[in-house]
Amino acid sequence: MDQSDLPHRNWQLSERARKLTSSAIREILKVTERPEVISFAGGLPAPSTFPAERIRAATDRVLREAPAAALQYSATEGYAPLREWIAARCSTAGATIRPSQVLITTGSQQALDLIGKALIDPASPVLVETPTYLGALQAFSLYEPRYVQVPTDDDGLIPEALTSELVKGARLLYAQPNFQNPTGRRLTLERRLALAQFAKTSAFPVVEDDPYGALDYAGKPLPTLLSMAPDHIAHCGTFSKILAPGLRLGYIVAPEELHYKLVQAKQATDLHTPSLTQRIVHEVIKDGFLDEQVPAIRALYASQCEAMLDALARHMPQGVSWNRPEGGMFLWVTLPAGMDTMQLLEAAIAHDVAFVPGAPFFANEAASNTLRLSFVTVPPARIDEGIARLAALTRERL
Ligand code: PMP
Repeated sequence: MDQSDLPHRNWQLSERARKLTSSAIREILKVTERPEVISFAGGLPAPSTFPAERIRAATDRVLREAPAAALQYSATEGYAPLREWIAARCSTAGATIRPSQVLITTGSQQALDLIGKALIDPASPVLVETPTYLGALQAFSLYEPRYVQVPTDDDGLIPEALTSELVKGARLLYAQPNFQNPTGRRLTLERRLALAQFAKTSAFPVVEDDPYGALDYAGKPLPTLLSMAPDHIAHCGTFSKILAPGLRLGYIVAPEELHYKLVQAKQATDLHTPSLTQRIVHEVIKDGFLDEQVPAIRALYASQCEAMLDALARHMPQGVSWNRPEGGMFLWVTLPAGMDTMQLLEAAIAHDVAFVPGAPFFANEAASNTLRLSFVTVPPARIDEGIARLAALTRERL
């Protein structure tokens, strides 16, 4: 039995808790942990990129040089040298970010939760891309917003769709301009400028979630919304995709008036992000390690992406389309109208291949003929085999 179906005789659950459901997909995907399954489902970074030796050496150094501080409670805002490092990294010619705007979080997933706590009331409108990150929907849903989907195309969110009618009363727009999870799309420069202009002229708050920005294969990043409209953007970042997700280290850069509320919310949640982890990560990155680490991850993911694009082109029948990501970990496949990728997943699992159906990534009306493929953890020969199996199952259903 699913945990959420258990009778709760002794505990009077809150309305909020009663509305929580566990994801149907999570249950299905549990079987993908079997080693024989070729899984394009997980959102996991490639473990071969984790700099374990560096982290071990940094841990030794931190515990040798600052054991008391590393193991003691510390400030909610985070470790000052790490906040300074992040502020410097986010600063551009046009926008100087102050360390006082940086809050270190326990993963950027916590950043989304804190933003929900600080900004969302029950039934208040929250704008999201169509589709959007499932984890953001889960985080925000605890605060019971009314989601409004903003139309998108292959170039990401369509700024002209942000009409005064659509944005009326909305608390925030949640956007991922870089290599979006789940679609892998990147917002064009023109659209970034239009969105930043909209944020400035309408004084409209935008949450820019940017876990994949460093992973653009050509190494030519487009400017962040933060750099274009710093007073209107809460920018979330993470070390999960460039070091290791198990560190659980992320951050929010926000204008001071919001930062201050986020700090209070975080204090109530977990006092602070582990002092030890913050110091270890700072020790690992402070002398430029990411300048070698990030290009190595980009090169690996670019070749993995190419392997998947080749396999799709080789095997998929006519009528199936997909995008060509320029960075990140995911691509988005659209099957002919009328096909249901939830049903396809059941058949796929029976043939030891897995993906994530698109529907759960939509806040409201879903396109159920879509699916997300992650290309970073499966070796190229297995990518080909997995896509061949998926293609055969798709062809059978045409
Ligand atoms: N935002 C997006 C868009 C993500 O894809 C993820 C990870 N799947 C997160 C936030 C959370 O990442 P973390 O908590 O590891 O920083």
